[in-house]
Amino acid sequence: MQSIDQHYMIDIPLLVRITSIADLHKNDLVLEIGPGTGYLTRYLQKIAKKVFVIEKDPKLLKELKEKFNNNKNITYIGGDATKLDFPNFTKCVSNLPYTICEPLMWRFIREKFEMLVFVVPLSFAEILTGKTPSRLKLLSDAFYEVEITQKIGPESFYPKPKTESALIKITPKEGNFFLREFFIQYDKKTKNALREILMKSGMTKSESQEYITLRLKPSIQDKNIVNLSLEEIKEIVKLFTQ
Ligand code: SAH
Repeated sequence: MQSIDQHYMIDIPLLVRITSIADLHKNDLVLEIGPGTGYLTRYLQKIAKKVFVIEKDPKLLKELKEKFNNNKNITYIGGDATKLDFPNFTKCVSNLPYTICEPLMWRFIREKFEMLVFVVPLSFAEILTGKTPSRLKLLSDAFYEVEITQKIGPESFYPKPKTESALIKITPKEGNFFLREFFIQYDKKTKNALREILMKSGMTKSESQEYITLRLKPSIQDKNIVNLSLEEIKEIVKLFTQ
């Protein structure tokens, strides 16, 4: 089932290295997204207090349960990681499904965590750490400290992915109040999210509505935040923070 991004990491030294970059302790609550057949899970569960795995493929989830059947510190969650609520966790360590990397970067700004350690496509890692302006880069600069700790070739996986990969370590930043409050509501309409923020700052509902109507084009007001262009986001930030 290649359609849901299944490339298993078979490189043992790399699995050990991922665990060591995550600096796991016995009190850590680890979230793993897309455990697959559990290569990485095996290392995580040895050290962490608890591992929560979120896997979309029911067949793999069943196999995982059988594989780790005596292990009480793994909690199995079936479903799509971009849609589910996450349990409380201290670190998320995952060889991510490559197609959901960007939605997850939006998702994680809602969470409290110490560190994220991900294997992602190298091109994705380079967007986060590079200089080219984009929505993703803006999000990343505002909320995350990202470090590429190493590049990974296709031979570390079975089957081999087409692209080069990278191991990245991400630590959270508090970021600017307005941008955080705005981006956390990424799946809402722009006008509704802005109204929430203005009301939090003390305006009444009708004052907020009027404030937004006077400043923003209707075409922008009705877009979901996650669909705004970089230019539109910049315009909103300028209008509402100056
Ligand atoms: N971590 C494993 C497997 C990585 S492959 C390893 O290193 O070997 C990615 C895994 O993510 C697959 O098991 C796939 O079924 C799962 N997956 C794909 N999309 C997902 C989604 N939206 N939510 C949760 N899991 C997903």
